[in-house]
Amino acid sequence: MGNVRKRGESARVAAKREREKRMVGEMIALWCHAKHGTRRGELCTECAELAAYACQRSDRCPFMEEKTFCSNCRVHCYRPEMREKIREVMRFAGPRMIFHHPVAALRHVYETQAERRRMRCEEAQ
Ligand SMILES: [Zn+2]
Repeated sequence: MGNVRKRGESARVAAKREREKRMVGEMIALWCHAKHGTRRGELCTECAELAAYACQRSDRCPFMEEKTFCSNCRVHCYRPEMREKIREVMRFAGPRMIFHHPVAALRHVYETQAERRRMRCEEAQ
């Protein structure tokens, strides 16, 4: 997992990209520990693959500037089976992130709401 900085990308967007990757990684780790019985800090093969895939999607996402989080993105670049998996992980790990990482989770909730409002505005036009 390198620090991929796209050409011309602002430090703010790069930081957001890194934050998203870290957050998704933590959610997958929570899920894997609870569902697959792996030890904390470890991932089973399936989850490691999902984590690598999610990272890769974040690295390549051209909408990092505008969107807040992949689950919110209107482009949905995930392959269908990966999308199913990541949604399951989010449903499970999302509420639990409040306890593990309250600041990051609250920021995510706030940013998600802000984006929903913005998308509704755009749709109304
Ligand atoms: Zn797993």
